Amino acid sequence: MTTAPPTGPYQHYVYAYPHKTAYRPLPDRPSLTSLWEREDKSALSLYLHIPFCEVRCGFCNLFTRIGAPDGLTGAYLDALERQATAVRDALGDGDGTRFATAAFGGGTPTFLTARELNRLCDIAEHRMGADLRAVPLSVEASPATATADRLAVLAERGTTRLSLGVQSFVDSEARAAVRPQRRADVEAALGRIRDAAIPVLNIDLIYGIDGQTEETWLHSLDAALAWRPEELYLYPLYVRPLTGLDRHRPDSGRDPAWDEQRLRLYRSGRDHLLAQGYVQQSMRMFRRADAPPQGADDYACQTDGMIGLGCGARSYTSALHYSFDYAVGMHEIRGIIDDYVATTDFSRAAVGYRIDPREARRRHLLQSLLQADGLDTADYRARFGSLPADDFGAELDALAHQGWLADPTGARLRLTAEGLAHSDAVGPRLFSPAVRAAMAAYERK
Ligand code: SF4
Repeated sequence: MTTAPPTGPYQHYVYAYPHKTAYRPLPDRPSLTSLWEREDKSALSLYLHIPFCEVRCGFCNLFTRIGAPDGLTGAYLDALERQATAVRDALGDGDGTRFATAAFGGGTPTFLTARELNRLCDIAEHRMGADLRAVPLSVEASPATATADRLAVLAERGTTRLSLGVQSFVDSEARAAVRPQRRADVEAALGRIRDAAIPVLNIDLIYGIDGQTEETWLHSLDAALAWRPEELYLYPLYVRPLTGLDRHRPDSGRDPAWDEQRLRLYRSGRDHLLAQGYVQQSMRMFRRADAPPQGADDYACQTDGMIGLGCGARSYTSALHYSFDYAVGMHEIRGIIDDYVATTDFSRAAVGYRIDPREARRRHLLQSLLQADGLDTADYRARFGSLPADDFGAELDALAHQGWLADPTGARLRLTAEGLAHSDAVGPRLFSPAVRAAMAAYERK
């Protein structure tokens, strides 16, 4: 079965390809040892997933639950440690395994106490062998959980980047996005983060909230800029199935006026940040021109293997992306977390998507093209022995025809400014028919 490419500027945020809704149970449940034995393990990324938050934001479809009944975080860390031990056994003891980057994501990793965060770092270091103080380590936090004791642990253990989900500095907009918080609390959290002297602060903001105007959007941006964050992520608001906002909106189908609002706020936000000395890295990401470099961090995802630990984390070998079961609904998420906590055998991959050579090319094209720097065609040829135009001529012609591709025959394939603005439409157009069909057939839960 094939499905037509979708339309409209806000189709799909492609932070990973293929999306988890294309994953399926793997009937052969391959052993991790067999999956990793022939892989290059010299520059792996390590990701630890903590699926707990104090609240469930209305726009969020990440794999997380509200709160943790007594003892659940401890039991979760026990399971994480068992999984780390099994994965490390599968990777082998040789010197060939090295982690080049690490990240704690969620959910909200700082939902854990300071003591539990220390344990999380111990698992990454002692069980997995990642040298956290020597590699970029990124951690996500929320204002209420960015407490001085937790930040002190994270700074001491080598955190180089702290990402704070703020979304809006206007209290009524935060409420409208079903993320109730007070600006004073956000400002206090930012003060604590700067006091902790973690080198890179990232602030996440959202545009397209009900009632948000250009004026209030720029007001939020200026409030963020007052902290001179090294990075800013500007996210268009999405209303996704089964999330809190979805339940509040009777009809979350296509809404041209909302698309127009989001495009307008995107452009004004982008122009404002460019004028303030930020460099656009992708549709969402802006980095202060004088910010310290983040090393291998940025592009590792395109080329290197990834080890994900935790019930919502993915792992990537060159031929298979795998994870555990996936859900957005609260009840199902709780069930998957409970199953994960009860698991004793982590030696096999259960759910995933096989990456054949054509999908590997497609993934490289897609993830490079969605960066402002675009794709180096000589690098593509060195990797795959062909040019993107040989492999994806029709798709690239269609993007060029739309005015979204800057120089289709140049040494670098790059999106135009409008192409970058429409990244969430460009990405889905490059999905393979097989991935598109698998995503369409996925039953949401
Ligand atoms: S947006 Fe972040 S803080 Fe909010 S529910 Fe999702 S993971 Fe938790």
